[in-house]
Amino acid sequence: WGQQPELNAIADLSPELEKELEGLDGEFWVSREKLKEIVGRFREELEEGLRENGKSIPMNLSWVHDMPSGKEKSAFLTLNLGGTNLRVCNVTLHEDEPDLETPDTKSSLDQEQYKLPDHIKTSTAEELWTYVAEKVQDFLQDRGLDTTYSKEDPMPVGFTFSYPVTRNIDHAVLQTWTKGFDIKGEEGQDAAAQLRQKLEERDLPLAMVCVINNTIGAMIASAYNDPSTIIGAIFGTGCNAAYMVPLSSITKIDQNDPRLQASGNKPKPNKMAINCEFGAFDNTHRVLTRTKYDKQIDEESPRPGEQAFERLSAGLYLGEIFRLVLVDLADRGLVLTNQDTDKLRTPYTIDTGFLSQIEDDESRHLTTTRTMFKESLNLSPNDQELELSRRLAEIIAVRGARLCACGIAAICRQGGNREGHVAADGSVANKHPKFKRSADDGSGVGCAIIAAMEMERRGRA
Ligand code: BGC
Repeated sequence: WGQQPELNAIADLSPELEKELEGLDGEFWVSREKLKEIVGRFREELEEGLRENGKSIPMNLSWVHDMPSGKEKSAFLTLNLGGTNLRVCNVTLHEDEPDLETPDTKSSLDQEQYKLPDHIKTSTAEELWTYVAEKVQDFLQDRGLDTTYSKEDPMPVGFTFSYPVTRNIDHAVLQTWTKGFDIKGEEGQDAAAQLRQKLEERDLPLAMVCVINNTIGAMIASAYNDPSTIIGAIFGTGCNAAYMVPLSSITKIDQNDPRLQASGNKPKPNKMAINCEFGAFDNTHRVLTRTKYDKQIDEESPRPGEQAFERLSAGLYLGEIFRLVLVDLADRGLVLTNQDTDKLRTPYTIDTGFLSQIEDDESRHLTTTRTMFKESLNLSPNDQELELSRRLAEIIAVRGARLCACGIAAICRQGGNREGHVAADGSVANKHPKFKRSADDGSGVGCAIIAAMEMERRGRA
């Protein structure tokens, strides 16, 4: 990501378009000096967030104190409510079983993914949790799990709720919505309790054991197989990371909190996984340079002024930035003249998958990209416009990837130059060619492992 891209042009741009693109490249390019400055400020915000609430990135407490031993086992239902999909998953942790085909595959999954209907993100809490409970019921019935388990012997559930929350291990009070969600009145409410109630109303044989953030899930899932894991990161619809912090460094926490004391035969914990919520980095606008397109996205979002970092780097926004630049160029008569740009003018109509495909397009004359423009936007760009789109997609993604790397670099440096494995997951990490190089783990099982650890802690496993 450190180099300016090398491209095989399919057409030469006119001097006018070349100049435009150079201008855009300059605006979006993050220099080495700037990267260093961002990492420096990131480190300050990480530390401030551990000292006090409210001034910088939240550094939310997870109440997860240990990495897994790798020996956790049992079956769990995990629910993951992300920005784009709901995933319901039956996870079985096997511990090490020599007869498994791949020796390090210690878990198996059976999952279903439901694309969230767009309207649900701005509906009501009632509608949202009813939708989730309905899908869970479908899943259980489909797999016969509703009869395998009973109210007396319920299936343990781990809930991944990936939004900023103040939490205990099984409560999650929403601080603010991110990733385009805007359900009024939900902030300040316990999302886990609301879902639990909806599941109970349907009389499902389930018991929610833990609620976690997807970054913590990614870290724990990776650590289950690879003890050198130090960070769990998500580059998806949103972006964020988690890591283990010594309790003595989390000075905003009351060290006498009863939850932090030794109990039974469990010793006093000495560390806690922290969900940084680093999408909120630089909300005070001290270091990041924002283009007029970034400012427009912020102003037109449901919560202006929030998630400043995420809006420059996460999947939900990369396609939208690309769209706004194209609209601007079209408005100035520089591209797509005499074409019907109605569809292009619909906010959030271009997702990151579109940008990934442009960059991945190895077809002659960018035939795949041409078809994508036609099918999703009803546009027929000429060769120069295709060439411009390809370079623009790259410019936007390179900025996103370089910024995300700053967050990870800052965490690695905090408390000394730590070495280890960074587990990355999420749709952008897995699919986008500019981010892929850092991605190699799935977070599906992390939530189940935390549920197993929590049950063991409660002495029930
Ligand atoms: C959320 C985080 C989440 C991240 C990645 C952000 O918008 O606030 O909780 O980890 O997206 O999904």
